[in-house]
Amino acid sequence: MIDIAYNILKVREAIANAAVSSGRTPGDISLVAASKTKSPELIRAAIAAGVDAVGENRVQEMLEKHAQGAYEGAPLHFIGHLQSNKVRQVVGICDLIESVDSAPLIEMIGKRADSLGITQNILLEVNIGSEPQKSGVLPGQVDDLLALASRTQGISVLGLMSVPPVDDVFERNCNYFDAMFNLFIDIRKKTYDNVFMNFLSMGMSDSYVDAITAGANMVRVGSAIFGTRA
Ligand SMILES: *Cc1c(COP(=O)(O)O)cnc(C)c1O
Repeated sequence: MIDIAYNILKVREAIANAAVSSGRTPGDISLVAASKTKSPELIRAAIAAGVDAVGENRVQEMLEKHAQGAYEGAPLHFIGHLQSNKVRQVVGICDLIESVDSAPLIEMIGKRADSLGITQNILLEVNIGSEPQKSGVLPGQVDDLLALASRTQGISVLGLMSVPPVDDVFERNCNYFDAMFNLFIDIRKKTYDNVFMNFLSMGMSDSYVDAITAGANMVRVGSAIFGTRA
């Protein structure tokens, strides 16, 4: 039996060290448990052990586990690729949609949220490596999408998210994290209505320490909490 509380303790320790050594406090960093393929029981154990949020990748899987009460007591994030035909199932259920990456998605999420009388919090997902096969907005399109989001009812942009390319070379990995942080800071200097650069979500089990060192304040950790996935 995997000891989730112990794993979270270890991850929290590493987060605290990375935060302090980069001039911040441990409490500034949000730990999102990436729980794809994991059972409601394991997710409840992670929530009981004090993760800040739970992140899911697939809408159907999320709705099934949501119906079983898997996420009670923690904010729910959507972190997977969001198809437009699934928007209505996600808006209002998730506290934060981290993976918004197109103008049509922004418009559809805003419309749905507006019809529910709510504001949906989102992050803009950035394809910082400009990889053709990957989700995310290209860095050069970020400003246009923020401008669109700022004039769309029903949406608040709370920051940026990224899944950077993984490189064997440490410096090259860190370059992507640095590029994201620079983008985050650049946008922070501008003012858009309904756009707040509160969260920079990047870093996974094998990279969250480097991501925090580069300036991330939200990390999405799966296997280091729940063990490897089948
Ligand atoms: C699965 C997943 C993670 C966590 O990955 P691990 O390597 O298991 O920590 C983080 N972000 C996204 C978008 C994911 O799909």
